[in-house]
Amino acid sequence: MSNEKIQFDVVVVGAGLAGSTAAAIAARHGLDVAIIERGRSPGGKNFFGGALYTHSLEEIYPDLWDRKPPLERPVTETGFWFLSKDGMVKATVQGGRINNEPIDAYVALRAKFDSWWAEQAEEEGAFIIPKTLVTDFIYEEGQVVGVTTDRPQGDIYAPVIIICEGVNNILTQKLGLIDHDIQPTKAALAVKQLISLSPKTINARLGLPSRKHGMAISVVGDVSMGMPGLGFLYTADKAVSLGVGVTLHALQETQIKPYELLQRYLEHPAIAPIIEGGQLMEYGAHLIPEGGWKEMPKLFTGGAMVAGDAASMVNALHWEGTNMAIVAGKQAGLTAIEAHQKGDFSAQTLSSYQDGLQERFVMKDLRQYRRMSKFLANHPEFMEIYPTFLNDAMGNFFTSFGKPKRQLYKEIWRSLTSRRSLLKVIGDMVSFGRAVIGI
Ligand SMILES: Cc1cc2nc3c(=O)[nH]c(=O)nc-3n(C[C@H](O)[C@H](O)[C@H](O)COP(=O)(O)OP(=O)(O)OC[C@H]3O[C@@H](n4cnc5c(N)ncnc54)[C@H](O)[C@@H]3O)c2cc1C
Repeated sequence: MSNEKIQFDVVVVGAGLAGSTAAAIAARHGLDVAIIERGRSPGGKNFFGGALYTHSLEEIYPDLWDRKPPLERPVTETGFWFLSKDGMVKATVQGGRINNEPIDAYVALRAKFDSWWAEQAEEEGAFIIPKTLVTDFIYEEGQVVGVTTDRPQGDIYAPVIIICEGVNNILTQKLGLIDHDIQPTKAALAVKQLISLSPKTINARLGLPSRKHGMAISVVGDVSMGMPGLGFLYTADKAVSLGVGVTLHALQETQIKPYELLQRYLEHPAIAPIIEGGQLMEYGAHLIPEGGWKEMPKLFTGGAMVAGDAASMVNALHWEGTNMAIVAGKQAGLTAIEAHQKGDFSAQTLSSYQDGLQERFVMKDLRQYRRMSKFLANHPEFMEIYPTFLNDAMGNFFTSFGKPKRQLYKEIWRSLTSRRSLLKVIGDMVSFGRAVIGI
C-alpha cells in the first residue's frame, strides 16, 4: 500500500442532511470534497418522524422538482391533537394557506430520502466514503488538518473539516467545542413505529381526500404520561408513522420503558382504530437534541466547523431540525469555499460560518426558544392537566345532559380550578408566552 497522504479540500463527517448539503455546496464550487459516513450507505442509520421543509430543499436545489425527490405525501393538514385518557381534542389546520402551492412540508422516509440527497451531492462532485467511522482529528500547529478513521491507514487530510455527525456529538466533544456529553434533561428519546396500511385505508381513517393529502400532527397530553414530551403522527404514502419522544431524564426518573410508552400510545382508544390491521414496517429509537441555544457548542475552530444535530440545531416544539441542518450545512459549505479562496483556514476566517447563520432563522429561532426545554421540564401541567381540561371543556360544551348551561360552565370552570389554581394558571400562561416569544 502506498504511503501517499490522502488529501481533499474539504472532509465532511456524516452523510445526513447537514453533511450531504455542505458537501454539495462545496463541490459545486469546484472543491474536492469527501463525505465520510459510518453507515453502509447514506441514510441507512437515519431516522425521524417526520416531515421535510421544502424551503430548505429548494434553497439547495432550485430545480428540486425536476430531480424527482423521493418524498411521500405533502402535508395538507397539521396541528395538535390533545389526548386525555379516553378522548381527544383536535386543533388542526387544513386548506387555506397550508394547501396553497408551494406546499411547505412533505413527509419523507429517511432511508430513501437521505440516500437520494447524498446522490445529489455526488452529482455535484462529492466523493462518498461509506462504512467508515471517523474516530479523531489530526492537528498541525494547533489547527485541525485531517481526520483519523477506523480503516487501516485511514487518515484523511483536508484543511477544512465539517462535522455533521448528528446527535451523538462525540467528535464535537473531542475537539473541545463543548465540554460535556449530552444532558439527560436536554435530550429526548423518541421511539416510533412505521405501520403499513393501504392508501385507501389511511385516507378513510384520517379523513384525507386522496393520496395527494397528508398529515403532520403533534400529539400532546396522555401520550407522554405526564413527562415532558410530545407524540407525533405522520402519513407516508402507504404507511403511518407514530411515535413519542420524552426526555431521557424523565425516563430515568420514572423508570418507564420507552417501548411501553409507545405501546400505550398505540393502544389509546383514539389512536388504535387508525392503525388497526396494519403491518409493522420499522421500529426504532433515536435521540433528539432539545437543549437548543443553551446546549449549542462553539460552532467553529481552526480548520473545523460543526452543523446540524451535532450543534444542537433543533426546534423541538416545531419539529424543525432537518431545515436547520440543511441551512447550516449550506452555510458551512459556503464558508469552506471562502476559506479556500483566501487560503486561510483559521478560526477567524471560519467564524463567518456563525456570522452567516446569525442572519438566518436557525440562530434567530434557537435564541428565541432558548427557554423552551426548561419550560417544558418545569411545567408538566402542559402535558397532563391542560390537555385533560381541554377535553373536559369541549366535551361539556358540546353535550347537553339536560342541564342548564350555567351549570355546565360551572363544571367546566371546576374541571380546571380543581386541578390548578387560577393564579397558577395565569403564571403558567405567562411562562409559556415568555418561552415562545423569548423575552
Ligand atoms: C423521532 C424524530 C422525529 C423527527 N421529526 C422531525 C421532523 O418531522 N422534521 C424535522 O425537520 N426534523 C425532525 N427531526 C429532527 C431531524 O431528524 C434532525 O434534526 C436531522 O436529521 C439532523 O440532521 P443531521 O445531518 O445533523 O444529522 P443526522 O441526520 O443524524 O446525520 C448524521 C450522520 O452522521 C453519521 N455519523 C455519525 N458519526 C459519524 C462518524 N464518527 N463517522 C462517520 N459518520 C458518522 C451518521 O451515520 C449519520 O448518517 C426528528 C428527529 C427524530 C429523532
